[in-house]
Amino acid sequence: MTGNKYDVIIIGAGASGIMAAAVALKDNKTVLVIENHEAPLRKVKISGGGKCNFTNLDMSADHYISKNPHFVKSALTQFDVADFLQEMDENNIQYQERKLGQIFCKNSSTDIINYLLDQSKDADFSFNTDITSLQKNNNIFEIETNKGSYNSTSVIIATGGISFPNLGVSNFAAETAKNFGLNVIDFSPALVPLKLQNPYTELSGTALHCKASIGKKFFYDNLLFTHKGLSGPVILKISSYWSKGDSVSIDLLPNANIKELIDRDKSSKVKEKIHSFMKTYFTAKVASWILYETDIENKNIQELSNHQVELLYKFIHFFIVKPVADMGYDLAEICKGGIDTKELSSKTFEANKVSGLYFIGEAIDIAGNLGGYNIWFAFASGFIAGKCQTNNKS
Ligand SMILES: Cc1cc2nc3c(=O)[nH]c(=O)nc-3n(C[C@H](O)[C@H](O)[C@H](O)COP(=O)(O)OP(=O)(O)OC[C@H]3O[C@@H](n4cnc5c(N)ncnc54)[C@H](O)[C@@H]3O)c2cc1C
Repeated sequence: MTGNKYDVIIIGAGASGIMAAAVALKDNKTVLVIENHEAPLRKVKISGGGKCNFTNLDMSADHYISKNPHFVKSALTQFDVADFLQEMDENNIQYQERKLGQIFCKNSSTDIINYLLDQSKDADFSFNTDITSLQKNNNIFEIETNKGSYNSTSVIIATGGISFPNLGVSNFAAETAKNFGLNVIDFSPALVPLKLQNPYTELSGTALHCKASIGKKFFYDNLLFTHKGLSGPVILKISSYWSKGDSVSIDLLPNANIKELIDRDKSSKVKEKIHSFMKTYFTAKVASWILYETDIENKNIQELSNHQVELLYKFIHFFIVKPVADMGYDLAEICKGGIDTKELSSKTFEANKVSGLYFIGEAIDIAGNLGGYNIWFAFASGFIAGKCQTNNKS
């Protein structure tokens, strides 16, 4: 056996890896974090528009997609949102609640980054380090890198997913899992804008509150028309449930019924043009677009035929789009797929077949919805795998 010996080696200095290091260090374990780029927590830095949406007050397994939807439950029980927010308070990290229970850093993601780096400062870090081999011999993991050889009794793989390739992502976790005989579910982009064959370019940049559904799954949030198709939080959320060939049904006015609104207006004595009426509920641009698409001229609302009211109702409440593709890993916030959860213990994240080998964070087949769920799962799985090290004999 050659190289420097550590109790725990963590591969990947992202949200999950740094959390694992911080927790393992609490028991005075010797910890090495190997990162193939120059800095830690680079995704956390840009997350949430620079303010890191790190958790959500509405936390449950319902917000996660996985082949095994129950797998995440243990992690969510072991790592509690209220406890973590208390920890933030005690460390003077300011945060704020936004809509739908989302918790963001109040000032900047740098606040939570500094906290995590402070908690993990006693680890050794090896940046710009490429791993050339990882093997297990006689219960010891041996790791060869371009900077030297290391060994440990525990290895935590925290190398994330493959979305946002401009950050230099890698498929290391999946390749390592396969080398150890573990099943891996192919990655695919999630939380990603959708591409339309004929995008509504005239509306590009326009946002509106909608309900988007695929089958029984639906979300309420803002939709954004883009020059290639559709984006905005409601589309990112529903995209995680979209497969090629699926249509997305969009309710452009989810909190009202256009028929009832028209009936009410029709029966009033005031004569109002349909475009002006529509502007009460939509921007002028969207109102013009709806009338153009339904081929309704700008006449008094009392002159609308039943057929035209029906057309408006169908268009507004059941606007159906059939995306031709998603916008791919370049624009996907996360990936679906990863290490098959049936290969891991849901209580510890250790591989069932390989003792001492852990997989955490986005590398495993758990994909959170938009709203702080992905960083939260990265933190939770890191916390748990890190805590397991404190019980291990080394
Ligand atoms: C633009 C954007 C905004 C986002 N905003 C949010 C948000 O606000 N809230 C939220 O919950 N989620 C958000 N996410 C998702 C979230 O950032 C990730 O799900 C989360 O960071 C995953 O944590 P992780 O530790 O699994 O992986 P990462 O944070 O991606 O960390 C993996 C680390 O491993 C390193 N690595 C990779 N391969 C190797 C290798 N071979 N050797 C050594 N090191 C390696 C990487 O360089 C990286 O440092 C966002 C994602 C993006 C792209």
